Amino acid sequence: MSVADRKTVGRFAPTPSGKMHLGNIFCAMIAYLSAKKNGGEFLLRIEDLDAARCPKENADAVIRDLETFGFEFDGEIIYQSRRTDVYKEFENRLAKLGLVYPCFCSRAELHASEAPHIGDGVYVYDGRCSLLSEEERRERAKKKKPCLRVKVPDSETVFEDKFKGRYAQNIKKECGDFIIRRSDGVYAYQLAVVADDALSGVSEVVRGEDLISSAPRQLWLCEVLGLEKPAYAHIPLVTGAGGRRLSKREGDGDTLAEVMSRKSPKEITGALAFASGLIDKYEPVSLAELVPLFDFDKIKKTHIAVDL
Ligand code: GLU
Repeated sequence: MSVADRKTVGRFAPTPSGKMHLGNIFCAMIAYLSAKKNGGEFLLRIEDLDAARCPKENADAVIRDLETFGFEFDGEIIYQSRRTDVYKEFENRLAKLGLVYPCFCSRAELHASEAPHIGDGVYVYDGRCSLLSEEERRERAKKKKPCLRVKVPDSETVFEDKFKGRYAQNIKKECGDFIIRRSDGVYAYQLAVVADDALSGVSEVVRGEDLISSAPRQLWLCEVLGLEKPAYAHIPLVTGAGGRRLSKREGDGDTLAEVMSRKSPKEITGALAFASGLIDKYEPVSLAELVPLFDFDKIKKTHIAVDL
């Protein structure tokens, strides 16, 4: 059975490291509307892999906000922080394929190397630790806990995004062998997302366009693990009036809680639906009312500016 024959299973997968802002709720909204328009299911997954950065009260606040907006979730809420065994199993499967190796390089070493920087302290890794002998690995492991990386192919991964169209990436050249488990034992986003989407039968991933460069790594993991691949839709980011970047910091006025202190969920939903092109004129509207009106083709291709 191909993805096209299955009923849509969508999901929203926030990382509760801070407060939600309008961009997060917009993403949840589009993922929800697309799934519901097709008579499908919608799941909520809390991506609190890094438990130290994602306290439970943040997750509780996210869930409360979503419920206030009228989101209804199918199945149990998944908490990634409770699923280490699942990710371990996927790590083992990759290891059996001979794709996993320990990496002892420090951030400082990578920083000092010629490797291109791809953001947030992440470099295109040249694979040097894959060349270590077993003996060298044992020696190094006495002094330093390694992270785990996967060996990626030096070829293009291509997919058709529902929103952005064709997207191609050579994972080796643009990301390098990437981390699946950090040296402190915390599993990485790329592995966890693939494991969870596959195990919960997610058929459609809707998320912000800032994550499109992760999709080839996730598709490649699906491929080598023999998992069914979801369809992807990477949607434009929401900005404030005039293209101003939204802030997740409390006090700047952009967090959902702050906007909700001034506006009702229906007003916010209406403003997002109008700004994105789902409705032709602004009016307060509920999520349920938007379901029959939903169509990916209506959504603007550029960033979505909302003035609240
Ligand atoms: N947890 C990610 C975030 O909040 C989204 C992951 C995904 O949708 O694949 O940015």
